[in-house]
Amino acid sequence: MTQSTRLLTEQFKALESIQELDLKIDQLKKNQGALPESLRVMEQALAKVGQSIAQKNHAIAEAEKVQRQTQAARELNNDRLARSESRLVAVQNSQEYQAVNKETEQLKKLAISLEEQFKKAEADMEPLKKALGELIAQQEKLKGERDAQANLLSSQSGKFETEITTLTKERAQYTSQVDKPLLAQYDRVRGARQGLGFVPAIAGRCKGCNMMVPPQMFNEIRKRNAVHACPSCHRILFVPAESS
Ligand SMILES: [Zn+2]
Repeated sequence: MTQSTRLLTEQFKALESIQELDLKIDQLKKNQGALPESLRVMEQALAKVGQSIAQKNHAIAEAEKVQRQTQAARELNNDRLARSESRLVAVQNSQEYQAVNKETEQLKKLAISLEEQFKKAEADMEPLKKALGELIAQQEKLKGERDAQANLLSSQSGKFETEITTLTKERAQYTSQVDKPLLAQYDRVRGARQGLGFVPAIAGRCKGCNMMVPPQMFNEIRKRNAVHACPSCHRILFVPAESS
């Protein structure tokens, strides 16, 4: 075994470990990335309840405005009615009496109508306030669930992060055993080919794309004298020790 052959054999051994670690890291990152989805769904539900609450508050504010206006109109009407009634006792003649009495009757009718309006506004408000109370309770419940989920996700994400860090450190031990150009070639192909950059060639086939490797090249790969890439998918090929 020549010096360069031994070195390449060692580099290939390291690359095998790197490839294995990279696949594990990829999977962890994928799992970690999927975590926020459940939280996103909860946030959406919470935002929807928030919108409903804002709508109810607006409707309640409108009903309160109507109530205030009606109340002001009632007070004004009551003042006019009191004045009208006091004038009624001081009338000088029957013509004046007729006029003041008519005004008094109208003001009394208006008072009844305003009271009805006020009661209606009050009745309108009741279901709105009830619905608002239910929405607020629902919001509180969702917030609690959302916070619990966020805590769970953050602890899960932390676990993934720890595992990724551990595997990345392990990876660094192997990358130091591989020549930079070979490592760069591996990283490049891996990036372009679904995370697989270093694949076995078994029974004359590239296990990355399953295409036949030319027999001459397969023999060269088996000897481990040089780096060979699959002519179809460009992944770096090696022949596993047990099958070479
Ligand atoms: Zn291939």
